[in-house]
Amino acid sequence: MDIFEQVGRMKHERVLFCSNNDVGLKAIIAVHSTVLGPALGGVRMWPYNTTDEALTDVLRLSRGMTYKAAAAGLNLGGGKAVIIGDPKKDKSEALFRTFGRAIDSLGGLYISAEDVGVDMEDMELILTETRWVTGVSPAYGGSGDPSTVTAFGVLQGIKAAARWRYGDRSLEGKRIAIQGLGSVGGYLAMYLKEKGAQLVGCDIDPEQEEHCAEAYGVEIVPTKEIFDVECDIFAPCALGAVLNDETIPRLKCDIIAGAANNQLAVPRRHGPAIDERGILYAPDFVINAGGLINVYNEITGSGYNRERALRLTRGIYLNMMRVFEISKTEGVPTYVAANRVAEERVANVNKLGATHWGRLVMRQRPV
Ligand code: NAD
Repeated sequence: MDIFEQVGRMKHERVLFCSNNDVGLKAIIAVHSTVLGPALGGVRMWPYNTTDEALTDVLRLSRGMTYKAAAAGLNLGGGKAVIIGDPKKDKSEALFRTFGRAIDSLGGLYISAEDVGVDMEDMELILTETRWVTGVSPAYGGSGDPSTVTAFGVLQGIKAAARWRYGDRSLEGKRIAIQGLGSVGGYLAMYLKEKGAQLVGCDIDPEQEEHCAEAYGVEIVPTKEIFDVECDIFAPCALGAVLNDETIPRLKCDIIAGAANNQLAVPRRHGPAIDERGILYAPDFVINAGGLINVYNEITGSGYNRERALRLTRGIYLNMMRVFEISKTEGVPTYVAANRVAEERVANVNKLGATHWGRLVMRQRPV
């Protein structure tokens, strides 16, 4: 396997290019920051057209992980990896095991997890070669599917937004529109129903719609009409960039709070555009940190514990309130306030000196 490094690209601490023609591996591991702890982030497998496209993606995604971990108060840095390939055609045991060796060569600086195109079985192949893996099945001491915990975190963020906007965190009778009734959206519907909310939703997959209509009483609307639904809260739980020039003027809600990553198409333009419409925006990387909090619990303390993960995830309520407070006192959009929270924490901890990873203890895995 060939591994070479590029240091100092976009201020990332390390960028590792890994290739092995024998097994068809072409991958990049980006470590954006390890100020707060080891860089944790998913491995994405995607048929990028060029290496440059893959590099742009992994640099952007790894930086996002630094912000997410910092704002959630975790002792984790930000990292991400991409494997260039088609997940439907190019997967093999040798490819994932070779990639596992590349991760291992970093000695714990980067810790991997599942992402788009990579499933639990692939992660278990990576685990054959390195212990720096999270998100594996409970059979391997992992936490399994993070979606329930992510949805539970989104619920905390929605409650905080309701408290800020209406002076009351109760969701009883609130009309909430969910775009995307997949893993997170489905569990969110379950939690919201328990809280007495009235649910509207859509999914491009009719099976998911049917399931959520039957199980949680979700009123189904056509996917194209979800932005026009009159509601109190809009919860994007499908794709990124859904808050854009076309959709923001159509929204008829008081609050936007959902799980999807990178919801603002162009943050600098669409953050203020949402403010101008008088809508409260719960920044995505603060509200959807439950999944990261979940895997963090896998590698800290005495091993994974769901109760502990949920307890820590409840903290998203206070994290969100802090963001709203800063947004108000400093007169900046909420996404700017969230960035500030993350940047200030990294800057403060950086004063401790490099590799000060607090009390984070990496648990040994049976490999
Ligand atoms: P998922 O694939 O299980 O669910 C997404 C759902 O959205 C699918 O059912 C899909 O059919 C539907 N969808 C796609 N395009 C749509 C459209 N235009 N209109 C309506 N529905 C559409 O994914 P997930 O794990 O539930 O993640 C949802 C979002 O939350 C993603 O943006 C993901 O990056 C983000 N997120 C997920 C987690 C997690 O723990 N799974 C953690 C953090 C962030």
